[in-house]
Amino acid sequence: MTIIKDAPTELFPDPLPLIGKGRPRSVNGGLHQHIYPATGRPTIEVPLAGPDDVDHAVATARSAAREWRDTPPNVRRRLLWQLAKLVEANIEELTAIQVAENGTPIVSAGRYASSVVDVLEYYSGWPDKLVGQVHPVWPVAAFDYSVREPHGVVAIIIPWNSPLFSVGTVVGPALAAGNTVIVKPPELTPFTSLRFAELALQAGIPAGVVNVVPGGAAVGAALVSHAGIDMIHFTGSGRTATRILQSAAENLTPVGLELGGKSPNLIFADADLESAAAAAVRYSFQNAGQGCVNGTRLLVEDAVFDDVVSLVKERSEDTYRVGDPVSPETTLGPVINQAAVDRILGMIDRAKTSSGGRVISGGARYGGEFADGYFLQPTVIADVDPRAEIAQDEVFGPVLSVVRFSDEEQAVAIANDTKFGLASYIQTSDITRAHRLANELDTGMVWINGAGGLPPSIPFGGGKDSGVGRIGGLEGLQLFSRTKNVWIAL
Ligand code: NAD
Repeated sequence: MTIIKDAPTELFPDPLPLIGKGRPRSVNGGLHQHIYPATGRPTIEVPLAGPDDVDHAVATARSAAREWRDTPPNVRRRLLWQLAKLVEANIEELTAIQVAENGTPIVSAGRYASSVVDVLEYYSGWPDKLVGQVHPVWPVAAFDYSVREPHGVVAIIIPWNSPLFSVGTVVGPALAAGNTVIVKPPELTPFTSLRFAELALQAGIPAGVVNVVPGGAAVGAALVSHAGIDMIHFTGSGRTATRILQSAAENLTPVGLELGGKSPNLIFADADLESAAAAAVRYSFQNAGQGCVNGTRLLVEDAVFDDVVSLVKERSEDTYRVGDPVSPETTLGPVINQAAVDRILGMIDRAKTSSGGRVISGGARYGGEFADGYFLQPTVIADVDPRAEIAQDEVFGPVLSVVRFSDEEQAVAIANDTKFGLASYIQTSDITRAHRLANELDTGMVWINGAGGLPPSIPFGGGKDSGVGRIGGLEGLQLFSRTKNVWIAL
């Protein structure tokens, strides 16, 4: 029998906001009781930043902005590299903090932490390579060039599902482009962001360049509506993005958005069915289904539908091992809280009762030693109506919907019939079909016959209700900088 141990909270950093070098004690946003999702038990109380803390953080980030923008690129390169090395040196600690803050299994949390090292190393190489352009002009003789400049102070709002990865992948390009940042992690998971900011200071990045104000919707709203914010980058749900855009409209603040997804995974009869089924299970249940790019809509060609469904059922029952998140054997952890359990089980129930879906695997909460935590079984629902709620809305839990299609045209129509446009996956041995579909699918990213990681060199993001702009690669730097054009009459 697995004994779920209490959260390993001894590594939690001071939960107070980090503004400049200081940890202001007079926070006025109230308190949040942190709950460890694997046990459902309370750990520590998190003091939440309030409007005064936001004012203080914005003033601090503004006063550091000029110094950071004017820091020579080779020095910014060294400082970002140094931060990468400190994250690497503290990888076990950061991993343990993430396990304790949201119940991510230690093996997955370790992978997220390594990805952050990779992102920081990658972006440390960019500050000295951000170049402008020279433009031909007329009708009079002139020399005209453009340069990239930082926006200034960037408000960065992140969600709770992979908080270290979220903070690293956005702060990396924002700092490389010369911005100062104010990170607002959710009240549920403030700890990795705070530790990350402590390491930034330790790396020698000037005080005020990276600030953290933990809190919920109230502090987020105060931050994004602040007149001292020059750009907003938001990762989270479409519902919140709408509110942020409404508020940003008041100050005409530019916004980058990384939102949700309902990514289709298309399996054609000519695919290697064994590996396609294994991939389908991996893509949908990783991080207990709490991931924006998870392939949660499986579209299977008629001719192989029954074979694929039985392979997926088998794999979904033996691929993921539920257990204590601190154990290296565990690959399936809890979802974030009781509200998520209720929402996910409600959606499964409606898929059965009102949409005729067939639950062929899972469908319930784990009992016994897991009953106090928020553990849900990997769930596969077959014969789902592609317009049903379960196939259209983000579940953000370990649920895979399987839909049938008869030919390529219908597959594309079903795949694109969603408000989301983040990622898509294609399994086929026909290379021409693969390229044809990559052209047809309305998503920001397409993975063909396998998805092996997310290196920081690739543009990451989606369209439609999945977002605006790309983090990753050169596009990440372009998002966090703007063009200035200079004309010199000759
Ligand atoms: P959420 O929108 O509820 O919250 C996200 C963040 O916004 C939190 O920090 C929250 O406190 C803050 N917030 C809430 N109301 C606000 C307001 N009015 N003003 C400013 N900030 C506010 O999302 P969530 O439930 O925490 O996260 C899950 C969502 O995030 C899913 O939709 C998921 O797909 C998405 N996500 C996207 C990516 C990506 O890269 N595309 C990555 C991870 C998660």
